[in-house]
Amino acid sequence: MVFAIFSGIIIGSSFGLSIPLIVMSHSERVASYEEVAAASMVVEALRLAGRLSSEEEGFSYITLPGIQKYDGPRLAQSMPIETKEAWLSWMNKNRSDDPVFLEQRWEWAQELILSSELKRPEDVRAFLLTPREHFVRAHNRGLEYADTWLPIGYGATITDPDVVSMMTTTLNVQPGDKVLEIGTGSGYQAAILSFLTKDVYTIEIIRPLYIETDALYRDLERNFPSYSVINRKLGDGYYGWEEFAPFDKIIVTCSVDHIPPPLLRQLSPGGIMVLPLGPPNRQYIMEIIKYEAEDGTITLSRRDVYNGLGVRFIPFRDESGTSYSAPLPPPPPEPAPDSM
Ligand code: SAH
Repeated sequence: MVFAIFSGIIIGSSFGLSIPLIVMSHSERVASYEEVAAASMVVEALRLAGRLSSEEEGFSYITLPGIQKYDGPRLAQSMPIETKEAWLSWMNKNRSDDPVFLEQRWEWAQELILSSELKRPEDVRAFLLTPREHFVRAHNRGLEYADTWLPIGYGATITDPDVVSMMTTTLNVQPGDKVLEIGTGSGYQAAILSFLTKDVYTIEIIRPLYIETDALYRDLERNFPSYSVINRKLGDGYYGWEEFAPFDKIIVTCSVDHIPPPLLRQLSPGGIMVLPLGPPNRQYIMEIIKYEAEDGTITLSRRDVYNGLGVRFIPFRDESGTSYSAPLPPPPPEPAPDSM
């Protein structure tokens, strides 16, 4: 490993930044597995050496074909969740989480199971493995496992755990799925996804928030190597991530009053999109499934997954900060009182 990093740095220095840049631009064809492996080693070495800073690069991680990725879903499968004791003992042996938070996380997950907001065992495992305490920002200490959304700065929020669990359960992520998230925010949702599949993509539009969360992942990666499968991009998620499309699942974590056409196009036939759909002041969590007939006709199914309960997400906005949703028209004027 040390040798690999060392030779990576040497190769990287002799080629300047040209190799990583070639790897990152997807227009270049990669000739062989060895070439990809060598190039990725350089990126990794430079990253470890702190030279590939996220301030210079819009991309932090790029998935390369043929590269072995950390298997978060397999780790999650090996974790016992039948009893608190068995779980705690596994966590203490295999992870380095703060025991105080482990207790809180277990109790909190049980509530999400009881309320049916977490349905599949896979999702329960992903929640139990994800340290929300690292994603809730420092000014909200003490509220790490509170049943509420919290501000994370820059006008953004970490979503309410109920809503995160319902959206995650609805996505029905399978281990081989390619999943795109719009709105990285705190990084919590993508961290959960990294225990459900090895192919996670997330886009954030607010630059300082992107940099902050990117640094957080890098910092946590030593203890949580599954975060290395989270491909991250600074940019406008309205246009999706064309180079890696199609996606089996898309989760939108900012509010919009229509389904963004580029995202619909980038969703695989049979794929599921979950998004808070509605005008800026109230949305409903919708599951959209895309079907494609043999003649190419696209049909969509729509389902409200939160039983008609309204939610209020941060607006889906463009680079200038303008919301993609149209404001509601003003209410009709009150009828004039009868003159009697
Ligand atoms: N998934 C996040 C939720 C963050 S709140 C979490 O787990 O914490 C919604 C996020 O969507 C905000 O960070 C906001 O900046 C981001 N967002 C809004 N418009 C966006 C766009 N066009 N592209 C990407 N992200 C966007």
